Amino acid sequence: MTQASLTPTTEHRRIAFIGAGNMPRAIISGLVSSGYPADMIYASNPSQGKLDALAADFGINVNNHNHAVVQAAEVIVLSVKPQLMEKVCSDLASLDLSQKLILTIAAGVEAHKYAEYLQQEIKLIRTMPNTPAQLGLALTGLYSAQELSQADRDYATAAMKAIGEVVWLEREAELDNVIACAGSSVAYFFLFAEAMQNTAVDMGVKPEDARSMIQQAMLGAAQMLVHNSDTSAEQLRHNVTSKGGTTAAAINTFQEGGLEPLVDSAMKNCVKRAQEMA
Ligand code: NAD
Repeated sequence: MTQASLTPTTEHRRIAFIGAGNMPRAIISGLVSSGYPADMIYASNPSQGKLDALAADFGINVNNHNHAVVQAAEVIVLSVKPQLMEKVCSDLASLDLSQKLILTIAAGVEAHKYAEYLQQEIKLIRTMPNTPAQLGLALTGLYSAQELSQADRDYATAAMKAIGEVVWLEREAELDNVIACAGSSVAYFFLFAEAMQNTAVDMGVKPEDARSMIQQAMLGAAQMLVHNSDTSAEQLRHNVTSKGGTTAAAINTFQEGGLEPLVDSAMKNCVKRAQEMA
């Protein structure tokens, strides 16, 4: 896994989203907020309601017909659910896509399947964004099986940076690690917050106070990790844990209860499930 180090300049190309659900909406919002011209963004979807909302909120071009937006754009973002991908791609197979850059945000559909479904050679990048994209705080993994031009790589990097950070991967299987580390892991933190809030309420803390204390502590801890990126998480933990003190009492309980092996099993099961679903 290599962290993208370039500061890309967004070379604007006409970009079309096939499927206008939650994740494309987050990406479109990020693109428009970062100055991408709305008139160079297209979206298609069977239901008019989502398209009307996108047009009203961001001023982008919308159309019910996938062919129309694919023909209008140089970059295509396949954004339908994985189980619909074969059907949607097969319907696009009659179009010449050889000059277009194709991005997909679908989980679990392997890169080689797209050429098969589209019945032609294509330039494809698999991307794996996560839900904090809604706040511009995504982590997106990117992978291409092909040698791409630097311009195509920079374009994809810049487009996905509109919703957060990006990491380019060297092997397709690493996308499953992105799911375990950044996709599903968002829910692990929610589970931890939920458990802490329940205990706080049990100890007599008002629910709204429990929520604000715990969310502020999580936010503070996350910011400390970000701002001290040359200090390990382990060291940051040691820095706030005095021997024999209150934090040590809690940490010892977690460790004696097997938190580390439990996290290990949970993340490996997450990857295993991603592999089964591919
Ligand atoms: P969603 O259900 O919100 O949106 C899917 C959209 O596709 C719907 O608006 C639906 O009407 C539309 N659609 C259905 N058939 C279509 C067709 N034939 N042509 C065009 N559009 C069609 O789903 P989402 O959350 O936006 O997820 C979309 C993709 O993003 C999925 O493949 C998912 O795996 C991937 N993804 C989502 C997240 C996430 O956090 N939401 C994270 C990573 C990846």
